[in-house]
Amino acid sequence: MVEKYFDADADMSVLAGKKIAVVGYGSQGRGQALNLKDSGLDVIIGVRPGRSWEAAIKDGFEVYQVADAAKMADIIQVLLPDEDQAAIYQASIRQGLSAGKTLMFSHGFNIHYGQIVPPPDVNVVMVAPKGPGHMVRRMYEEGKGVPALIAIEQDASGQAKAVALAYAKGIGATRAAVFETSFKEETETDLFGEQAVLCGGCTALVRAGFETLVANGYAPEMAYLEVLHELKLIVDLIYEGGFTKMRDSISNTAQYGDLTRGPRVIGPESYAAMQEILEEIQDGRFAKEWILENMTRRPVFTALTRADEEHEIEEVGAEIRALMPQFQKK
Ligand code: NDP
Ligand code: MG
Ligand code: MG
Repeated sequence: MVEKYFDADADMSVLAGKKIAVVGYGSQGRGQALNLKDSGLDVIIGVRPGRSWEAAIKDGFEVYQVADAAKMADIIQVLLPDEDQAAIYQASIRQGLSAGKTLMFSHGFNIHYGQIVPPPDVNVVMVAPKGPGHMVRRMYEEGKGVPALIAIEQDASGQAKAVALAYAKGIGATRAAVFETSFKEETETDLFGEQAVLCGGCTALVRAGFETLVANGYAPEMAYLEVLHELKLIVDLIYEGGFTKMRDSISNTAQYGDLTRGPRVIGPESYAAMQEILEEIQDGRFAKEWILENMTRRPVFTALTRADEEHEIEEVGAEIRALMPQFQKK
């Protein structure tokens, strides 16, 4: 079983007198930094001049260039885009590290695939919230927390885990639960989840259902409402109480169709594809592909994103949402 930690397991005193640099002030950077500050910790922001810089100033932080923040801080939480972390680490973070400091991440990609190789005398840890930055912030403000993963890659000071747990408490994660993992497990499961299920699997499933209905002459509006709009209602039930709660709320007809037809949609071919996708993650093929894609300014990413933005489901979806007050921006 995975080790779990809660508020009582984390001692914030290991962070007393320590300075934390949150590097990057985007989704995770903003959420984590504001929570740490409200937990009474000494937080500075490292970022480049621009939108994020201005946002951090507006939120009341001391803001520095990344290299300066890395030099000043004892704990450096790297919340930059994963594909930019290695270059920024080399240019601006590496020389700010010294013995006993803690280098922290919220995703293991760059450490696990060897894009960042920290010196042996620093702690290398992960505190990875299992939710987007605005949820990390909102739940904290509500007195709750988003669960998080911790992992220890290098324990140079003997305090790496205590620091990771205290940081997790600072962002509110121990109010929910903190699970211990490794950089390898977090990286591989995170990539697999987003590719096969959460993002890739989900959009492909919805798109296929929409296209099948439309190809058979059903109105695109009907197809949209059925396979996309209603998805949230079903997912909310699964989130709250698993498949059982969802099946308690749907009709018996829906439940029978679910049990007997679902496995035909996600059958042996899908299991084989999932296995192959997982192996590409495990042996580094996906990482290499994504690193090269970034080095060539993302031609595949750009073309495929544009094609999906122009899909009929996006067009009809925008029209339908415009009719409903719940989707209007306040
Ligand atoms: P974002 O893209 O939201 O934010 C990135 C930040 O990095 C921005 O503030 C950006 O500033 C800054 N930045 C980019 N390039 C530079 C540069 N050259 N120099 C200085 N600052 C720069 O990232 P996320 O918060 O989504 O992701 C951060 C980390 O958190 C990643 O490791 C990700 O995997 C992980 N994570 C993300 C989750 C999420 O839900 N988003 C969930 C869990 C983990 P600027 O405005 O100037 O571009
Ligand atoms: Mg991810
Ligand atoms: Mg229905």
